[in-house]
Amino acid sequence: MSLFNSIITSTLPILPKWFAKPFARPYVAGKTEDDAVSHIRALNEKGFSATVDILGEHVLTKEEARNITAQYCHLYDRIAGESLDCNISIKPTHVGLDISLAEAMGNFTTLTKKAQEHGNFLRIDMENSPFTNQTFEIYQHCKTIYNNVGVVIQSYLHRSLDDIHHLANGKFNARICKGIYRESESIAYQSREEIQDNFLSLAKTMVAQKAYSGYATHDQDLIDRLLDWIETDKISKDLFEFQVLYGVPMEGRLQALLEAGYKIRVYVPYGPDWFEYSVRRLKENPKIVSYVMRNFFRKR
Ligand SMILES: Cc1cc2nc3c(=O)[nH]c(=O)nc-3n(C[C@H](O)[C@H](O)[C@H](O)COP(=O)(O)OP(=O)(O)OC[C@H]3O[C@@H](n4cnc5c(N)ncnc54)[C@H](O)[C@@H]3O)c2cc1C
Repeated sequence: MSLFNSIITSTLPILPKWFAKPFARPYVAGKTEDDAVSHIRALNEKGFSATVDILGEHVLTKEEARNITAQYCHLYDRIAGESLDCNISIKPTHVGLDISLAEAMGNFTTLTKKAQEHGNFLRIDMENSPFTNQTFEIYQHCKTIYNNVGVVIQSYLHRSLDDIHHLANGKFNARICKGIYRESESIAYQSREEIQDNFLSLAKTMVAQKAYSGYATHDQDLIDRLLDWIETDKISKDLFEFQVLYGVPMEGRLQALLEAGYKIRVYVPYGPDWFEYSVRRLKENPKIVSYVMRNFFRKR
């Protein structure tokens, strides 16, 4: 970790919120459901699909986990009521996985039934490795209720190729991303090249299994490599979409992908806990400090 990143990471929690806001604002779609809905509508009007997430994780009481579950159910109603092209992404520890597997299972059961009521989709986000097995267990439970549920596969984990082989029976939908947490070299690739190579292998394995993938990356070289393969092997556009985080500058790439007929889904996070969440993310992965600083000055 560079000295600069570590200074920012350790001082951010004691800096006033007004100082951090200009850096965090581009990546957060506001504090309220109304804020998020207006951003999602604007994205839909530009041709993007969306997935929405309430910022937060690691809740410690059942009351809070159930309250968040109720907010997500309300979001499903709102998405249907306003005919938005949007599904929902949920972190398991935000609805109770840190409390118990049973608590998270119960809340995901409620959420799956709500998604089913509206014919919408539920994405279960992937957190750090202590939660991987339990997250797949929750996923498999949800699939017994409703088919339109998906998980996330992280290309930095050595296990991910096996996970696809294990999970991809019947209709399988996975977001492939590099993985945002710091994981040890005993379980995770550390070099950019290995993580990119594995991303591509995972994408190819998903296609071989006729499973649907969301390619979640802003890495332009990796997008080039994906497109080379997609175009050379004439991969059907019904088998994948590109996904990006709200606010990350892509230098015209998204427009070019849309114009070439590719589907793009933008991950839209919102919520009152934006500051606490951003600080936790930075502490977990100080690399984000350099991304945010670079993007901030690039825009100016
Ligand atoms: C839609 C979506 C959903 C995701 N869901 C998960 C998940 O469930 N679990 C999980 O572990 N990870 C998730 N991630 C994060 C992912 O694993 C990576 O950590 C992240 O996308 C950075 O990797 P990259 O592929 O973009 O490539 P990198 O090479 O790391 O980044 C390429 C460029 O993108 C920009 N960039 C990347 N990330 C950020 C950021 N956070 N803020 C500002 N600029 C940034 C920078 O300009 C950087 O140079 C998700 C990512 C996306 C796009």
